[in-house]
Amino acid sequence: MKYPEWNSSRFVLVFSLFLMVFFEANCTQTPAEQGRQALEEAAQAMGGLEALREIENISREGTTQPSSLGQARTASERLYVQPSRPYTQIIDFTVPRQVEMTGAARTLRVTDWEKGGYRESRGTVFPLEPRHLNGTRQEWDRDISRFLVYALGEESTIQGIGQHELEGRPHRVVSVTSMDGILYKVYLDDSSHLISKLEFTEDRNPYGDLAKERLFSDYREVGNVKLPFSETTKEMGLVTQVREWSSIIVNAELREDLFEIPSEIQEKARSLAHADTVPVIPTEIAEGVYFGEGIGTNNMWVEFEEFVLVVEGPNTEMQTLEAIHQIQETIGNKPIRYLVTTHHHADHVGGIRGFAAEGATIVTHAQNEEVIREILTRPHTLNPDRLAQSQLEPQIETVEDRKTISDGTQTVELVHLPNPHVDGYLAIYLPRAQLLFESDMFEILQGETGPRVVRPEARVFYDAVRKARWRVNQIVPGHGRLLKWQELVDALEESG
Ligand SMILES: [Zn+2]
Repeated sequence: MKYPEWNSSRFVLVFSLFLMVFFEANCTQTPAEQGRQALEEAAQAMGGLEALREIENISREGTTQPSSLGQARTASERLYVQPSRPYTQIIDFTVPRQVEMTGAARTLRVTDWEKGGYRESRGTVFPLEPRHLNGTRQEWDRDISRFLVYALGEESTIQGIGQHELEGRPHRVVSVTSMDGILYKVYLDDSSHLISKLEFTEDRNPYGDLAKERLFSDYREVGNVKLPFSETTKEMGLVTQVREWSSIIVNAELREDLFEIPSEIQEKARSLAHADTVPVIPTEIAEGVYFGEGIGTNNMWVEFEEFVLVVEGPNTEMQTLEAIHQIQETIGNKPIRYLVTTHHHADHVGGIRGFAAEGATIVTHAQNEEVIREILTRPHTLNPDRLAQSQLEPQIETVEDRKTISDGTQTVELVHLPNPHVDGYLAIYLPRAQLLFESDMFEILQGETGPRVVRPEARVFYDAVRKARWRVNQIVPGHGRLLKWQELVDALEESG
């Protein structure tokens, strides 16, 4: 042959073209496949999927700065910004269970999926409620050390991939639906392949569908994996948590004693962990007036001739449903016409939607009208509660300085009480029963011993009651146990 080289190189060229066309036609990845590949690269950048899968527990030490949504001094602000404090977190993914120690006093909170959990508060312990367990479970499942193991696992569905800039850097954005139905957008830095951000929407009482993002940075080697030492969480676009780790240890020998649940609440913690209700224990404190004692937050209800008035709708719908059940047990089937809320803080309004679903008018100080309306009307598509299902138009009534609700047999006074805790605050006075309902002015927790905690608002509250010349024998608190008026007087004297 004359030109054997030419012929063979032409053959190579033609064959290569054929291969390219072949691959183009048969091996083009779907967006889901591209997404999977990008997540696999991210796992590789973090030390490999195998190494991540081998993480059984993680111990992190550093600081946390929490800023609670809906706990600000005024209703027009969203955040109660708290100072940064020492924070230790030990997660044992094998159970799963977790120990948290917060602040200089290293206040404990233990969450155990099997045994339930507890939290310390002012030297006494409280069992965790189902909402705590469920919330923590979600956080474990999205913990950055384990996230890719779940995202690449069989129970997640990778939806696709896109491109996005984040802080001026190009990112690939992979969409994954987790086994609990949450859609995550995973931002992967184009150059490092590491996760810069998770973006998702979760159901959060009382806001319903809540947009959330968590940003990760300062990745460092931890054993044979690479983990972020800085995590910033945003909710509704606002920074609600900053965690900076000084030390992260993977697969340490765990101290079993830290996970122990105090014997006196072991049974309660276990039975409450996955219960479908929480206790609201009624006590008749005056004729037709009932104290409904919850675990961390309380209700009160008052019987009128034709209807029932409830004071405070705290915690969650779960507490509200139990309160409604106890109202029916103690009073019967009268309609709940009013739900009075002392102030706008999230822990005190988490259950108002459930009362609105019963047709109750929500009564609040005029300053809270907007935020209460928002809570009553925000979308709850991820976990539609009773109000979302009822399609009812929520009713709000506002109070400026004072409002009296009376039918001749029963009288309830709602009185604006300015104080350093929060603006737009109502105290609820029952002159005939000589009792007063207040939240967050002064409380003694169940089982609390030791010196009384007296904040400035306790004195303001005391002075306001004296000035108004109200006759008060009993204080019915939003947190803690029933109080004699004298206990406040004693506490103020002791504290000087
Ligand atoms: Zn409060």
